[in-house]
Amino acid sequence: MTSTARKKLLAGNWKMNLRLGEIAPFFDAFAGALKPGATGHCDILFAAPFTQLQATVAAARGRGFAASAQNMHFEASGAYTGEVSSAMLADIGIRTTLVGHSERRQYFGETDDTVAKKTVTAMREGITPVVCVGETLEERKAGQTFSVVSRQTKAFLEALKKAGLLSDAMKYREAFYPGDLNDGLVIAYEPVWAIGTGLSATVEQAQEVHASIRQVCREMTGPAFAEKVRILYGGSANPANIAGLLAQPDIDGGLVGGASLKPADFAAMCNSANG
Ligand code: PEP
Repeated sequence: MTSTARKKLLAGNWKMNLRLGEIAPFFDAFAGALKPGATGHCDILFAAPFTQLQATVAAARGRGFAASAQNMHFEASGAYTGEVSSAMLADIGIRTTLVGHSERRQYFGETDDTVAKKTVTAMREGITPVVCVGETLEERKAGQTFSVVSRQTKAFLEALKKAGLLSDAMKYREAFYPGDLNDGLVIAYEPVWAIGTGLSATVEQAQEVHASIRQVCREMTGPAFAEKVRILYGGSANPANIAGLLAQPDIDGGLVGGASLKPADFAAMCNSANG
């Protein structure tokens, strides 16, 4: 299977932005700027804050887009004040969540271990985790990019293996709703130094790390999963640089922060995923 067999996926990460009243106008503007038939070539996903998820699901689903959480807890229930479980996400029809975004690792103490636990819990609940990995600037300067990204990737794949869930990660799952992702698991490579900084990785830098992540998957799981798993690039992706990134053989889409808040820009990025 070549990269052309992997449908592109453009995922917007709204972070802690967009008030409820802004969501419907966002989707009107976004859908209006999208080329007809866009979702035939490119899956489109919006990761919204918890309190905005129901409005996002309602607005996205009717148009064939998917909605995602940005985080969840790794326990099923219990004394975890302020947290939300995977089952609670499933209760409101959420079938995808980001896991281990670098802002969670950086500001909220997430580690390879908690990221691995969340990945396992999400998959147990039938929620597709979009697991984020990526090196800091210091790590890149020290020549540690490949070892860091490989360590982060192995941590959640090992945990899935131990939990007997690796085969689920490899399967296509049933899509319940139009626009729903059918991946068992998605990986996002996001160099920390490129997130929200305006400094994007070059296409060559991104491609070589994506290829290395796919190689880790190949070594740990065999070729089938490695060829199937979608690996997204994130880090100051925008309408000007997305086409070059998406043309790379191991880059299957984008996880987009800042530009996903601008409906015309994000639509232009989805349009360019359609060639
Ligand atoms: C992100 O939040 O995942 C991200 C990549 O942000 P930005 O596109 O703004 O760099």
